[in-house]
Amino acid sequence: MPESDPSKPEIIVQGLAASQGIAYGQVFLFLQSDLELPSYQVDPDKRAEEVARFEHALLVTRGQIQKIRDEVEKNLSSNEARIFDAHLLVLEDQALIAETIREFENSGSNIETCFNAIAKRYIQAFSEIDDEYLRERSGDIRDVVQRVLSNLLGQAAASLSRLADKRIVVANDISPSDAAGIDRSHALAIVTDSGSRTSHAVIVARSMKIPAVVGTGNLVTRVKNGDWMLVDGYDGLVIVNPGEQTLFRYGKIERIKKSIEQRLFKANRQPSVTLDGVGVVLRANIEKEDEVALVKEYLGSGVGLFRTEFLYLSSQKIPTEDEQEAAYRKVAEQLAPAPVVIRTLDLGGDKPIAGAPSLFPREDNPFLGFRAIRFCLENTGIFKNQLRAILRASVVGNIKLMYPMISGSEELARANAVLDECRQELRSQGVPFDEMMPVGTMIEIPSAAYTVDILAAQNDFLSIGTNDLIQYLLAIDRVNNRIAHLYEPTHPAVVRTLRHIVEEAHRNKLKVSVCGEMASDPELVPLLIGLGVDELSMSPPLLPAVKYVIRAMTLADAKRLAEEALGKSTAREILALCGQFYRERVPLE
Ligand code: PEP
Ligand code: MG
Repeated sequence: MPESDPSKPEIIVQGLAASQGIAYGQVFLFLQSDLELPSYQVDPDKRAEEVARFEHALLVTRGQIQKIRDEVEKNLSSNEARIFDAHLLVLEDQALIAETIREFENSGSNIETCFNAIAKRYIQAFSEIDDEYLRERSGDIRDVVQRVLSNLLGQAAASLSRLADKRIVVANDISPSDAAGIDRSHALAIVTDSGSRTSHAVIVARSMKIPAVVGTGNLVTRVKNGDWMLVDGYDGLVIVNPGEQTLFRYGKIERIKKSIEQRLFKANRQPSVTLDGVGVVLRANIEKEDEVALVKEYLGSGVGLFRTEFLYLSSQKIPTEDEQEAAYRKVAEQLAPAPVVIRTLDLGGDKPIAGAPSLFPREDNPFLGFRAIRFCLENTGIFKNQLRAILRASVVGNIKLMYPMISGSEELARANAVLDECRQELRSQGVPFDEMMPVGTMIEIPSAAYTVDILAAQNDFLSIGTNDLIQYLLAIDRVNNRIAHLYEPTHPAVVRTLRHIVEEAHRNKLKVSVCGEMASDPELVPLLIGLGVDELSMSPPLLPAVKYVIRAMTLADAKRLAEEALGKSTAREILALCGQFYRERVPLE
């Protein structure tokens, strides 16, 4: 580790541990506020210089975008790199450039002011066009304009997709689309002042195997670019300017944690079976097709949750049916014969498509608003594209389809009717698909949890989304860090609801999985298994620790734990029971 600067005081900030690991490095502050543009008149004899300055900024921007494009193509895919071709085209837009120079010649105002004014008119015009593709280009133009302006001002544009070096990303918040585009080769850790353990930026950090700490209050106002920082994703600590003692201590902690991780990783080759011989299926959650490598590395039995909206968020535009089919096929083929549960779009909430503001008007309560299946049932064109893509891909591997955010049987029937229409269309076009493809529902809204008996007939399987189920049961916004301490997975209402779902599902001969973050917490896994949950699905790097606890317990003990938990009246008591159960069986640390 590099040496720390002893002249600076150490600042320790306690946040919430969101993704495991320890990182040490320099800060990259990600601030999304608009650039402050100076406005002044340019001397008439400096006008040629001002135009040259503009042309130079365009040139520099072109070089930057080209570099990112090449890196994205190398690290992700040529598909994802294509968005940057659109960005390069904006830089070649002669109308935009010529109009800026004309404005400058007429007004004499500095070039930033002129470029900004013309670009704003452009963006406005594009966002009003009646063609979805062109409308979405306004997002590309906005992005490029920001880059050009930052180059004119000599400032680094806030962009997570092009970190110059290995950095710890510190932000007030990171939107899912920014998180999806994060520079995976250079981000050492993610720290956000807001957010919670289940916010989607955190889910992305876990899939990247980098530490994350959230809920750090006002850290962005206390650090600057280049500050040295240590991030402890195990205990949720952030230490700015760590002293030598601290670095030494953490070096040791990191070695201990690494050795535990290695032991777990080795033990992960064993089957997922309890001491009394009961198998528990462990699957992986993924956001992108290239995470299949992680699923294999950590030996997930296929994918229990493919959050397909990330395909949309990372490209900021809606992928075509063919592009989607290719992604689903690739995952299914690589993991066959293990199943891949493809969840239909869960956009909205904290995941609007940045490039398509017209599809997601601002809402006061986005988590209670136009989200997931509600969005899909009103945008059947987009929905049907995805359903057809999934059906077409279902001829390979073992694909299952799952709907998010279903609130009751009528909504589910509407979704299934659209799916049937797609089946009919494909049949009449002679396009093959798996007629028997299983279809399931996520149980993540209380109204669905308490109508499982009614929903059962319309489903082949169920999966509990505890992230949202807890949010809606306890009325705790899952991304609001002010109330994050009230987000309690062991609240008696949560435990009782889980028991109810499992009992009703089993009574109706359906298997139940849990694919929310609760499934990846080794201390809570015995409770879930004791309540009767059949399968668990989680971020791949968390699979070994979960398998370890499963192999260290009996189902009979887990059932007793669940019974005892159901008799308790507070979240704290249930958590204590789970903690004790875990420590008695996993004396790892
Ligand atoms: C959940 O709500 O638990 C879930 C798995 O879905 P998401 O986190 O994508 O909302
Ligand atoms: Mg959910």
